[in-house]
Amino acid sequence: MTTNRAGRLDEFGTTIFAEMSALALQTGSINLGQGFPDTDGPPFVLDAAIAAIREGRGNQYPPGAGIPELRRAVCSHQHANYGLEFDAETEVLITVGATEGIAASILGHTAPGDEVITFEPYYDSYAASIALGGAIRRVVTLRPQDGRWTFDPDELRAAVTSKSRLILLNTPHNPTGTVFTRLELQLVADLAREHDLLIVSDEVYEHLVFDGRQHIPIATLPGMAERTITISSAGKTFSVTGWKVGWVCAPPKLLGPVRAVKQFLTYVGSGPFQYAIADGLAAPPAFYRELATSLAARRDIFTNGLLELGYQVMIPQATYFATIDVGAEAEKWCRALPEQVGVVAIPSRVFYDSDIDRYVRFAFCKKEEVLREALSRLAGPQLQVST
Ligand SMILES: *Cc1c(COP(=O)(O)O)cnc(C)c1O
Repeated sequence: MTTNRAGRLDEFGTTIFAEMSALALQTGSINLGQGFPDTDGPPFVLDAAIAAIREGRGNQYPPGAGIPELRRAVCSHQHANYGLEFDAETEVLITVGATEGIAASILGHTAPGDEVITFEPYYDSYAASIALGGAIRRVVTLRPQDGRWTFDPDELRAAVTSKSRLILLNTPHNPTGTVFTRLELQLVADLAREHDLLIVSDEVYEHLVFDGRQHIPIATLPGMAERTITISSAGKTFSVTGWKVGWVCAPPKLLGPVRAVKQFLTYVGSGPFQYAIADGLAAPPAFYRELATSLAARRDIFTNGLLELGYQVMIPQATYFATIDVGAEAEKWCRALPEQVGVVAIPSRVFYDSDIDRYVRFAFCKKEEVLREALSRLAGPQLQVST
């Protein structure tokens, strides 16, 4: 084995998702680890991709910024849903999933030694993307309070230093399922303006919001459009996580450096799928409502089941994920679970810099019968965790 000469990724081994998915296969477990749906996206989107391939649209390198049809569809989507105005020519970049958009934004806007503030628990690619560019992450911890997760404004303020460059935000938030409130976003925005920081806002769960709550893009707050890079993707919204079609929206001076990095990461990607997602984004509002309603119903089945079994459950306001609090040694608990119970879950410890090992994340974006089977397995004999 060779080592990464820069040493930048030394702390990153195989992702927990690969490890736990392999365990799921080995033990015949139900995999509620990785967050992907077990049913494919809507037929009109799947058919549009097949038609694009057959008609020779997107089979060769698409334009570097993404196909114009998709860039225009992203602009219409941002305007129809949030009243945000972007120019399809100069302010939208299509990427290989949100993951590439996030990486390119961080690499394009930080120099080695710059600090990036983010909230823990965080999506695993954040730490790696920050490390790749030689930047340094500073985390602010989200903690449960009144049935949702939030941060201490003083801790957020204390995370800012003279080296701070950007705040990497994720709302709706994976893994906690929290939707940041306008007040929370205002605190972040005030700090960004005060210290001249950029915001990179990961909004891939924008349409998976439950109970009539509202997702608020931070770019809609007064004075924030000019310092915000907004990122989303098709994977979660259209249940096609394998397609990797993402987009980055920002004013030209912020988008330029992102585009410069992106062209040498992948240049372009997902040609025919770009056409399909351009069609998908034209879906009527009812499509997004039904998606959220269907997922909320599965959240209820799963979290009510866990509550009945006596688990301490945090009910998510959005996303694919529910968290339980097992008190301590959650990682050991998760490693024993496949063998003893036949279910795979992710120890949330992997999403923290702090030594917090009490939470377990389950993905509930699965068929109802799969969730019920998982619950019946979890109802079995108590897990024996050796210490
Ligand atoms: C799934 C996910 C992504 C990755 O999106 P892709 O479009 O698949 O690259 C990014 N951020 C969060 C928080 C996610 O959960």
